[in-house]
Amino acid sequence: MRTVTLIPGDGIGPEVSEATRKVIDATGIGLEWEIHQAGLPAIETHGNPLPDAVLESIRRNKVALKGPVTTPIGTGFRSINVALRRELDLFASVRPCVLYPGVPSHHEGIDLVVVRENTEDLYEGIEFEEGSKEMQKLRGHLKYMHGFDIAADAGVSIKPISVSATETIVRFAFDYALRRKRRRVTLGHKANIMKFSDGLWLETGLRMAEQYRAVGFEEMQVDELAMWLAHAPEELDVLVLPNLYGDIISDLCAGLVGGLGLAPGMNLGADYAVFEPTHGSAPDIAGQGKANPIAMILSAVLMLRHLERPSEANAVEQAVARVLAKGEVRPGDIARGEEPATTQQVADAIVDAL
Ligand code: ATP
Repeated sequence: MRTVTLIPGDGIGPEVSEATRKVIDATGIGLEWEIHQAGLPAIETHGNPLPDAVLESIRRNKVALKGPVTTPIGTGFRSINVALRRELDLFASVRPCVLYPGVPSHHEGIDLVVVRENTEDLYEGIEFEEGSKEMQKLRGHLKYMHGFDIAADAGVSIKPISVSATETIVRFAFDYALRRKRRRVTLGHKANIMKFSDGLWLETGLRMAEQYRAVGFEEMQVDELAMWLAHAPEELDVLVLPNLYGDIISDLCAGLVGGLGLAPGMNLGADYAVFEPTHGSAPDIAGQGKANPIAMILSAVLMLRHLERPSEANAVEQAVARVLAKGEVRPGDIARGEEPATTQQVADAIVDAL
């Protein structure tokens, strides 16, 4: 029997995790869930939002399904999600965005995948606070060494982009495209403005593309990409983006296919995989049975594919698609004026459709 780590998380996490477990168990796959707390509940039990036991469990099982986790202020953690990605070297964040029939949207036929670099860029946390001694020193150094003038009342965040991390993520995007028989990889950047970070990203990406002639390739400025996504998202296929643009564009894509409640995701590295919805812990609706569990259920579908259980994965995805197409049971975030279904009712409808 296969064991996977389950981190219910906090906010709406426990509700959508419970619904997901119910659906996956109903396939008869017989997964063993090793449940570990992270986030707010782990502070209460362990005094630490990311206890060692969580990392040990994922290292043992190699695969985790994770609900959203809030990073409480004042714990010394910048972000639990960032810490988890770092500890497990989960260098790629992958967010498939599929528009299922019956989901309210301004578009049709969207089936794209956002591949986001997860380890560097403005997320490295190299920052200089406005008015600090360090900031003053940095200002002086940049003026003296390079003649750069930075406003006296500015703060600074540093954006490192390396050849090695770019090669890793671009190779991953092409391999993903090849494996899934996708048509084209679009590499987003802003190389005309940031020559030494995005410029290096673009140059490295172009060099990598030479090795993958079997997959279509194009490079696009990220602002133009945003325009295309708003105008004709069905024309785009696999997008590969540095960390910050990837964060923004993947939420934009979630919006195109029905919103955060429908957007699954996964974080992958060479050794470990953590599957989690794109949405956060949504404290405004937590504990009310209102949360849409589909993003988490579709994240579990991605996990089943990763575990090489395609028949169970397809069965769950088709059950979700049938419930969405029928339109009788819709959670509040995608309801069209009818009485919204509870988290539990959505899970039950998916189980019935299996
Ligand atoms: P984070 O910064 O952790 O990504 P966030 O503050 O951007 O989180 P989310 O928690 O992702 O925000 O959600 C934003 C809003 O979208 C929530 O307040 C909630 O109203 C809605 N939302 C998010 N996920 C769901 C869901 N699964 N079902 C229903 N509504 C949701």
